[in-house]
Amino acid sequence: MQLSQVKELEQKYLLGTYSRYEMLVDRGSGAYLIDRSNKRYLDLLSGIGVNSLGYNHPRIKLMLRKQLKRPLHVSNLLYHEYQGRLAQKLCELSGLDRAFFTNSGTEAIEGCLKFARAFASRQAQGNGGKPKFRILALENSFHGRTFGALSATSGKKYREPFEPLVPGFEFVDFNDTADLERKFTDDVCAILLETIQGEGGIRPISEAFYARARRLAADRGALLIADEIQCGLGRTGQWFAFHRFAPAAEKSLLPDLVATAKPLGLGIPLGAVILKESVANAIKPGEHGTTFGGGPLACRASLEYFKIMEEEKLLERNRSVGAYFKGRLEELRDLPIVKEVRGEGLMLALELTVPGKDIVRKLLEQGFILNCTHDVVLRMLPPFIITEKQIDKFIKVLRPVLQKEMEKETGQEKA
Ligand code: PLP
Repeated sequence: MQLSQVKELEQKYLLGTYSRYEMLVDRGSGAYLIDRSNKRYLDLLSGIGVNSLGYNHPRIKLMLRKQLKRPLHVSNLLYHEYQGRLAQKLCELSGLDRAFFTNSGTEAIEGCLKFARAFASRQAQGNGGKPKFRILALENSFHGRTFGALSATSGKKYREPFEPLVPGFEFVDFNDTADLERKFTDDVCAILLETIQGEGGIRPISEAFYARARRLAADRGALLIADEIQCGLGRTGQWFAFHRFAPAAEKSLLPDLVATAKPLGLGIPLGAVILKESVANAIKPGEHGTTFGGGPLACRASLEYFKIMEEEKLLERNRSVGAYFKGRLEELRDLPIVKEVRGEGLMLALELTVPGKDIVRKLLEQGFILNCTHDVVLRMLPPFIITEKQIDKFIKVLRPVLQKEMEKETGQEKA
């Protein structure tokens, strides 16, 4: 099938929730995607942070082949050996105590929100009070598309058509500790935050804000929930992005609940809630569940992911190659169109003074995949195997594309 035929079919039959790029994927290899005409594209977005070991990885393929000979699905009424092993890995790496598996990021967020409400309700049973129910989230946040996660997502464009959403949510100004203190009243049961906002344009929260949120939650009997769906699992050069404020061994500084997904199953849908024992104790059998979450195929891919990350020392690599990439992006700051470079490890952004959509399109034509968030932010979530040479190739193409865009803008201003 050609791209035109695929487009025609989709236009006729598919719900139009996405405006796709002009590219029909055929296959992938390493950091590259290849289209039907054999054109290669350097994938600087990794399927929005999912394909973090690139494409066609021989070890992952081998692992999946092994499981293909065994059950693809095992219901959560029975045991298989990989869920427990993966839960152990997630607990050891995060510093938390237990895991619950889901199929996606938004479901991991739903799990966190439900567990926080259940924790508050058990607390109230214990002290004869009224359950705390309010949940704080941050302005500019993105937590997913299901009703609970959407209620914690601040952007109007995501929310408005579906209102009224779940009651009890309120937004705190980004990195504003005074606003946090004002809104952190005694009826708050949890605060949910991304320690580096992803869709929001790669915006890191400050250590002071994290520390204040952690302290207030602990003092008021509320819970801190970290959404690590985009920034977690090694991308920033730490296993979890909150580790830069709260190392795994510092239990009292850690979040109480963590949502993770995206690269967890390396393309086989898989998410997880990781939580502290104190919160886990509030959840009774039968109170939450999932049909598909934690299936053997996804868990095996995930276990192999962690093995590869460790054996190939990819955390260290993400830190050093990420610093190189960021440095190369910083060089572009001599162009007035470039406002700011942000991010850590291989989670990077270039904020522009003009809309980025056309730039993304031009880069795609030249064989580079990335995307634009918040109209003006070019976002890069490359696979962890990207090389400095590939980064150089990209920068070489990016500079003239930005220069051309600048000339277009000044031309329009003059006219
Ligand atoms: N939270 C964050 C930070 C995300 O980036 C995303 C997806 O982009 C989600 C939640 C939702 O995850 P999913 O699309 O797997 O439901």
